[in-house]
Amino acid sequence: MIDCEELRQYAYCPRIPYWHHVLRLQPPSTFKIRRGKKFHQEIWKKARRWKIFENCKADHGVLLYSEKLGLKGKLDILLECEENLIPVEVKYGSKNVSIPVFSHIIQLVGYSLLVEDVFKRKVRYGFIVYADRNKLVKISIDEKLRRKAISIINEVKKIIEKEYFPAVAERRGKCSQCEYFYACKGV
Ligand code: SF4
Repeated sequence: MIDCEELRQYAYCPRIPYWHHVLRLQPPSTFKIRRGKKFHQEIWKKARRWKIFENCKADHGVLLYSEKLGLKGKLDILLECEENLIPVEVKYGSKNVSIPVFSHIIQLVGYSLLVEDVFKRKVRYGFIVYADRNKLVKISIDEKLRRKAISIINEVKKIIEKEYFPAVAERRGKCSQCEYFYACKGV
């Protein structure tokens, strides 16, 4: 079973699922990861003041699981606004938030697929919240993104089943920020 977090990691670098699933390495508990967990707890307290919450029911830390997709995940916030179910993924510490990076988008699409399968309702859009910058980005969940997410799920499964060792990240600058650099070194 693949976690939505791993869609993000694969989009960042396809080699990460190899370290995590095949060699079963754990990333060190860095300051950034610890700060992220604390931030997620704090953000829920603040979130009710956000405009997108108006007239919506909201839940947080929503555990989602789909046998059909081979996917699971813990969604930061799920909004129910009239007929719409809206997944919300909270990020912090991102430098450039004018355009969300693809890895953040594909993680949100993964949650959207899970919400659709679990609740049997179509997700039209979701939000990425860049919390420490007070920025909210709406992402339309279209068929192209759905297909891309499913293709990444299948790629991750292939890496795990065939113990296939993928190439390094396209942009080598990513390696210095990578949780698995201690094992990989980007070579
Ligand atoms: S160190 Fe670089 S090549 Fe290795 S897993 Fe991380 S991003 Fe990918």
